[in-house]
Amino acid sequence: MGDRVAIVTGGANGIGKACARRLSEDGFNVVIADIDQDAGAALADELGADKNKALFVSCNVSDRLSVNNLLAETRSAFDRLDVLVNNAGIVAKGDILDLSETDFDKVIGVNLRGAFLVAREAARQMVDQIDEAGERAEDVRRRYAIINMSSVNGVVAIPDQLAYCTTKGAINQMTKSMALSLAKYGIRVNAIAPGSINTDVLKSVNDNPEAMAKIMSRTPLQRIGDPDEVASVASFLASKDASYITGTTLYADGGCLALNYTMS
Ligand code: NAD
Repeated sequence: MGDRVAIVTGGANGIGKACARRLSEDGFNVVIADIDQDAGAALADELGADKNKALFVSCNVSDRLSVNNLLAETRSAFDRLDVLVNNAGIVAKGDILDLSETDFDKVIGVNLRGAFLVAREAARQMVDQIDEAGERAEDVRRRYAIINMSSVNGVVAIPDQLAYCTTKGAINQMTKSMALSLAKYGIRVNAIAPGSINTDVLKSVNDNPEAMAKIMSRTPLQRIGDPDEVASVASFLASKDASYITGTTLYADGGCLALNYTMS
């Protein structure tokens, strides 16, 4: 199949970093797109930037020109794109009574507008490649995949994370709409919805027994997930083993969504 190329947005830390590492292990050339330049460049070095196996591109996903530049840098380094892990995301505290307009716009800007901008440019790049190569649909089905990072909060809500929950619900629908448009090209589009995963987002919880107990009360597997346990789902969705899966959301949530009572 030749070298495959993957972009991971928000790839410098947390779940995105685990996805970048895993796809690199799977043999992908990986483009890490992030606003965190130090962590992004360090990870690219670790994954073989010097051997042209990895590249860091400073990219703010909510900015169209920055996203255009990400695709241009990817083409210039690797000449193609096969997989997008559309992962960059932020949170902002606030419920319907107190969430500021600024915070609402910020979260929508990164989690939804950003995911849309990157997905659009990536999909256009993939379709151009498919048109140019005249590849048969059968081959294409095994090659191209877009993976949007959703959350259990796309389905169940937290009152003081109104903006975040809103964006993740929208990501689930965007995933379906994109999957329908791109099916005729053989490009598969799916989402992963993690539960509570051990990244910077959960740092405050680690030192707060009360908050941790609350998370455990809604987690049947009784532990926080590891970023690698989300990366392995991304690896599967990017692989030909997932060749008949499109338009769906896979939940890596420790059983959270199956629960209709509180664990003691
Ligand atoms: P994280 O904060 O550890 O990493 C997020 C990364 O995104 C960082 O490297 C950050 O620099 C980058 N980023 C932020 N704004 C950006 C922007 N405008 N442009 C480009 N990059 C930007 O967070 P994480 O926990 O790894 O979360 C990754 C994704 O997983 C998010 O979409 C998040 O909503 C989702 N998620 C996380 C959890 C969890 O428990 N950690 C649960 C469900 C879903």
